[in-house]
Amino acid sequence: MSPSNENKSGENLKVVFLGGLGEIGRNCAALELDGEILIIDCGLMFPTLETPGIDLILPDFEYLQENADKVIGVAVTHGHEDHIGALPYLLREMPLKIWGSQLALSLARSRIEEAGLLGRADMVPVQDGDVVQAGGFSVEFIPVTHSVPDAHALAIRTRVGTIVHSGDFKLDLSPVDGRLPDIGRLAQIARTEGIRLLMGDSTNAEEEGHSQSESSVGEVLDQIMPRYRDKRVVVTCFASHIHRIQQIADAAIDSGRMIFPLGRSMGRNIALARNLGLLDIAEHHLADIETVSQYPDGKVCVISTGSQGEPLSALSLMAANENRFLKLSNRDVVIISADIIPGNESAVGKVINGLHRRGAEVIHAGIARVHTSGHAKRDELRLMHSVCQPESFIPVHGEFRHLSSHAALAVEMGMDEDQVIVALDGDVVEIGEGVLAKRGRVSANYLYVDGAVGGISKGVLRDRRTLASEGVVIVVVALEAGSGTVITGPEIITRGWAHHADDEHEMVEELLTELGDAVLHAIGTAVAEGAPDSETVARHIRKTTAKLIEKRTKMRPMVVPVVTEI
Ligand SMILES: [Zn+2]
Ligand SMILES: [Zn+2]
Repeated sequence: MSPSNENKSGENLKVVFLGGLGEIGRNCAALELDGEILIIDCGLMFPTLETPGIDLILPDFEYLQENADKVIGVAVTHGHEDHIGALPYLLREMPLKIWGSQLALSLARSRIEEAGLLGRADMVPVQDGDVVQAGGFSVEFIPVTHSVPDAHALAIRTRVGTIVHSGDFKLDLSPVDGRLPDIGRLAQIARTEGIRLLMGDSTNAEEEGHSQSESSVGEVLDQIMPRYRDKRVVVTCFASHIHRIQQIADAAIDSGRMIFPLGRSMGRNIALARNLGLLDIAEHHLADIETVSQYPDGKVCVISTGSQGEPLSALSLMAANENRFLKLSNRDVVIISADIIPGNESAVGKVINGLHRRGAEVIHAGIARVHTSGHAKRDELRLMHSVCQPESFIPVHGEFRHLSSHAALAVEMGMDEDQVIVALDGDVVEIGEGVLAKRGRVSANYLYVDGAVGGISKGVLRDRRTLASEGVVIVVVALEAGSGTVITGPEIITRGWAHHADDEHEMVEELLTELGDAVLHAIGTAVAEGAPDSETVARHIRKTTAKLIEKRTKMRPMVVPVVTEI
């Protein structure tokens, strides 16, 4: 250890995990030392069927809000939404300095601009190998390969030692742009200063072997495209996967096709990446999707968004025959050049069924090698560990199963078990002189965004799930103020609950009558207890009604008492 790494004051470095540990998405961590906080990534998570009506899920910002005066800024590892997508929401809370690659910042910029918060963001682009000073933290941006260009691992020098965060990475030795992961630099840091802590991407920690190089996908596309000489080819991939787009375009151009970008983010990202010199497609190979019908089928390659079955994406609309630019038929072959993110299986399945229904042929990763992961598998993780030789290790970026597999791998590689910590969202890990331990927790709830409204609570989601699965029963009653005498009602209204099928009609009528009687009785009890205010009466009504309905029907609809005092 060099002298600068010695712990002088005895204060420990805190690593605070705000998201991404225990789920794939909303990656966000904070390093706190000497009254300063450096944030690493600030991403979002996309909703699943478990979160009906929710648009986005954010990290819990409570700890950052409470310590806003200490925040120096955010270092972003790369331009994926699960690493930059929550920046506009954190910018609402505090102005931020943001360091990252030109591409990562450009991708973040459009969202920040949409939110009208550009004035609060001081964005500082970095080049490969740059070292920036962020308060007392010095941050080096080390090139790694991933499914978006210009991804970085971070080497963060602090008073208690050098911390390496792998970012999202794979070790691709034949990357499309020739930009190799800089293993040599990591080895040099390990040798000269020692790595106090490694935090490593765990996404593929359960997968044995080595991930296929990104360039292998190009070879497969090169074989597929000419096979469909008389058909249109539609390829879908992530709009930020610039290297994939490059390879799709190259294969298409080689087989004599024009490129038609489809979907808002696809058009935007292709333009952005061409401007930054990260994507090489000559202007005369690109055409507007509105002109697609003017070209012979064998001259068409559409590159589209929607690989995750997102309901309003270009591909979903094609599958439903509702895309205004493209009607699919047996003239088309659709290549899904992406993995399905866990949670999206049924949405993607629905889209694939729709595509077949239109008559299109569908090629996905289960049929041909039209996709490779952007995350390191176990052999690459082993290499990373042996290069870094970290004193201690915390697996990041994964569900619990991925984190624990990665932790087990570290121990297999010879690390002491007490130097490997499996932490989850909200955990605070302290690192100092002879210290490595979980110490305390911060708030790390899911922060739900629904439309323009942030901070949707768990209660709202529970209500939505109840409404979806059990329906609602509304009990309306008017009481005389003071006495609690029932003036009108109870009227019982139901939605999504009870079976109004003819043969059960009588039973439902009977139950509603019984409920009405029970409600009157409940009001009577509340009045007798001497507290006929509407809130107490409502509580009695809710309890009685819910209990009786469950007893009679085994169902638990949401019960909403509406009590007015006249
Ligand atoms: Zn990523
Ligand atoms: Zn990620």
